[in-house]
Amino acid sequence: MTSSRKQLVLVGGGHTHALLLNRLVEEPLEGVDITLVSDVRDAPYSGMLPGHVAGFYSHREMHIDLPLVCEAAGAKFVAGKVIAMDPQSRVLRTDSGEVLDFSPDLLSINVGSHPKVSSVPGASEYAIPSKPVPELLEGWSRVKEECREFEWTIVVVGGGAGGVELTIAMQSQVPERTRFVLVHSHERLLEWHNDRVARHLTGVLRKRGVELRLGDRVTEVQEKSVVLRDGGELNADSVFWVTQPAPPEWLSESGLDLTEKGFIRVKPTLQTVKHPWIFAAGDVATIESDPLPKSGVYAVRMAVPLERNVRAFLSGEELSDYDPQRKTLALIGTADGKAVASYGPFSWYSRGMWRWKDRIDKKFMEQFCR
Ligand SMILES: Cc1cc2nc3c(=O)[nH]c(=O)nc-3n(C[C@H](O)[C@H](O)[C@H](O)COP(=O)(O)OP(=O)(O)OC[C@H]3O[C@@H](n4cnc5c(N)ncnc54)[C@H](O)[C@@H]3O)c2cc1C
Repeated sequence: MTSSRKQLVLVGGGHTHALLLNRLVEEPLEGVDITLVSDVRDAPYSGMLPGHVAGFYSHREMHIDLPLVCEAAGAKFVAGKVIAMDPQSRVLRTDSGEVLDFSPDLLSINVGSHPKVSSVPGASEYAIPSKPVPELLEGWSRVKEECREFEWTIVVVGGGAGGVELTIAMQSQVPERTRFVLVHSHERLLEWHNDRVARHLTGVLRKRGVELRLGDRVTEVQEKSVVLRDGGELNADSVFWVTQPAPPEWLSESGLDLTEKGFIRVKPTLQTVKHPWIFAAGDVATIESDPLPKSGVYAVRMAVPLERNVRAFLSGEELSDYDPQRKTLALIGTADGKAVASYGPFSWYSRGMWRWKDRIDKKFMEQFCR
């Protein structure tokens, strides 16, 4: 006897899937078995990550308990890191060799991105990447101890919002003698944000003694140093890698249609281009007609259109396009109870901005605490 129940399989418990599951608690999908496959039980919330490093939030406060969210949504939680998939046979394979044969009617992928360490010699051996987050936090807790015991030099590579906020957060937690160098390939920090944002944050970094190497590039990472573009060397006891997001490598063999950079190409409905039953959302997805910045804000916002289209697809109804908001608000903490707000051409730097950020982030996390 074949079951008439449909199978919805979610790969990765990123922001979009965590929110999708949460929404299904309120309005369950009738006649659908849901499975979440995730390599972590605790999914980090990026908005609170630098705040956690700066000591404002505990591990629990910044992580979503995925098995708990699954339980509330009536979904099955499967622990595993997907490393391969075959769209033809609809089978997934995990890094432990397990074959997940759920025959999904709909598969959705929300596995995020990570900074590309493989393109610079030595970076994958010696640098600590900002993603996966558990690796970053483990590396940081080791480095923090070293800084407390020894004179230490930390080089951060990447001066976007993540790199800047992380540098400020780390610097707030170690003895003053710790040397920080931030290397960024662009002539100014945070080039995706307006000038005032960059000025505020450049000022904060300088005031806290962080050395800036702008318009420069790390071309090699060695055990205790980094090599710069002009051949010069910088002493580096620890290197943090916070460069532009790159897609997971396993996608290149997945049979999915990918962009030049290797992200999953999706339509505005969030369906993949070649396989209408496979959806992708968050950093890993690129809408072919409208590539968006890779940010947690968009991963969060994709939850509503994803839910809408998952429901429509499973019930054979017409799907609708995701119409992303153009301007987004970014709030960048400075680890002293203040934050810089960035919104289009506007910027504000104050305690009020931190209180606002804190409220938004706590409210976001509260919805998962049932
Ligand atoms: C230091 C730092 C600070 C940041 N701060 C902000 C911020 O304040 N605001 C903002 O908007 N953005 C911020 N970002 C960017 C933000 O982290 C990402 O854009 C966001 O996390 C993307 O969300 P996502 O849902 O696509 O994936 P993620 O949040 O990365 O989640 C992906 C999930 O999938 C799991 N996974 C990965 N691979 C597999 C696999 N093969 N099998 C099973 N599970 C898998 C991962 O463990 C993870 O739980 C920051 C980034 C960094 C590095």
